[in-house]
Amino acid sequence: MHTVQSQTYDFIFVGAGISSPFIAHELCRAGSNCLMIEAGPHYTHHTYPRNELDGTSQMYWSGGLELSTDAKLVFLRPKVVGGGSIVNQALVDRFDDDALDAWRAASGVDFFNVNDMDAWYEKAEDEIAIQEIPADVRNQNARIFQEGFEKLGYHLAPLHRAQKDCRYGDGNCCIECLNGCRIGSKQSTPETVLKKALAHGLQLVPETEAEQISENDGGVQVQCRDRLGRQMTYRGRHLILAGGAIGNSRLLLNSGYNRELPHIGHDFYCHPQYMNFGIYAEPVNAHIGAFQAFKSDDPGFRHEGFKLENVYAGPSAIAMLVSGFGNAHHRFMEKLSHFACIEVCTRDTQPGRIKVNRKGKLIIHKERSQTDMDRFEKGTRVIDEIFRSTGALEIVHGSFGIGLHLMGGCVMGADPVRSVVDPEFRLHGKKNIFIADSSIFPNAPGINPSLTIMALSKMAADRILRNVQS
Ligand SMILES: Cc1cc2nc3c(=O)[nH]c(=O)nc-3n(C[C@H](O)[C@H](O)[C@H](O)COP(=O)(O)OP(=O)(O)OC[C@H]3O[C@@H](n4cnc5c(N)ncnc54)[C@H](O)[C@@H]3O)c2cc1C
Repeated sequence: MHTVQSQTYDFIFVGAGISSPFIAHELCRAGSNCLMIEAGPHYTHHTYPRNELDGTSQMYWSGGLELSTDAKLVFLRPKVVGGGSIVNQALVDRFDDDALDAWRAASGVDFFNVNDMDAWYEKAEDEIAIQEIPADVRNQNARIFQEGFEKLGYHLAPLHRAQKDCRYGDGNCCIECLNGCRIGSKQSTPETVLKKALAHGLQLVPETEAEQISENDGGVQVQCRDRLGRQMTYRGRHLILAGGAIGNSRLLLNSGYNRELPHIGHDFYCHPQYMNFGIYAEPVNAHIGAFQAFKSDDPGFRHEGFKLENVYAGPSAIAMLVSGFGNAHHRFMEKLSHFACIEVCTRDTQPGRIKVNRKGKLIIHKERSQTDMDRFEKGTRVIDEIFRSTGALEIVHGSFGIGLHLMGGCVMGADPVRSVVDPEFRLHGKKNIFIADSSIFPNAPGINPSLTIMALSKMAADRILRNVQS
């Protein structure tokens, strides 16, 4: 059965991740009538999955296993109300001159500079609490990271986390919040701006995927399918695409917009990340307590195109990352409590490409250039030094890269041939279709993306309101 809704909304949002709730909050507050469609489920504190396997299979597209065509990278793409803000490590950083200069050079967009972005970062930061992990609750994994950096003379800095009250005294562990934070500390969009947008009348439709978009009579139509297979069409005056780098590219390609905008799907980046483990004689218990304490802050590393982070993954993710099988793999995993973990995140230079096949299925081409591999190898060498200098008995490198920061595919730029979105956050040549999420990133910044998505979404909301009212 196919239902066509009679109501026409002022704004329809596709996706309920980070960008759309930031924009919807402003538009609903200004009195607009908004609908938000999200493919993933809507959890509450009480219904988040309780273990890692359920979390990965229920809150990611394809159960968390989307691969590049060369099978060297795995992409983790959130599919849940709140998107990446539910499952991510909640690390928030402003971009530096280096990142914004590279964006301005690639896009020809003038406001990509620290001065112009400052005010929007402030507005974004006003919506969330940001804290560091207090020194007295850092765990042994964090202490190893710090000791290695200090022994080798590298610079490190505390990680900034979007969190409010982790109640460490009650024994809460960072690892839990990767499946959704049950104590409401993590500053996900459902805890912050989405809640406010809903209070201002936003209508949210979860577990419904937008399959095609089209325009008619100066408005837009979004054809959707819910989890029971029922089809429906929603109508709006304006459309805001916020399905992330892959989600937006795929929807636009499946809707035929590449005929007018040939750059859709191009310039895809993902900051390939690689986890590495040092195995120590004494238990490290890297998964217990507050482990997301430090990041590298070394100008040399930034120059070389990589950063190191003191993070961790759940046991089943680690089991997949280390090679081997059967008894040998089992014996190795038995030492899990003795593992310390350091992740190298690379600033990739080789653009990937998002495509769809004739049936509309996703294809992700993402190769790594020699420069990208050099960055990864340099970062890995530093990690080996840190593990050796702190007494690791054995060092194990994760066997493939992970793409968590999915960016590009609908990049912003002045030139409609080499970009998809104009500096007013509109699809080139379209007055009423907007994008401000990770898909508009012109290239890889080498810095955690989410705070910049929030800042750009604040800026976009301001411009959309001005454009629509004028
Ligand atoms: C495990 C993990 C750890 C991370 N850690 C960090 C970190 O510490 N710091 C940081 O800055 N970044 C981190 N990131 C990256 C960050 O979360 C993303 O960059 C960010 O969420 C992107 O925001 P977005 O609004 O562009 O899209 P998303 O947050 O991905 O939201 C897009 C939403 O749109 C929905 N959608 C897509 N297509 C459709 C469709 N056709 N119909 C309906 N709905 C659709 C998706 O289901 C999804 O919920 C991490 C990511 C992961 C996966």
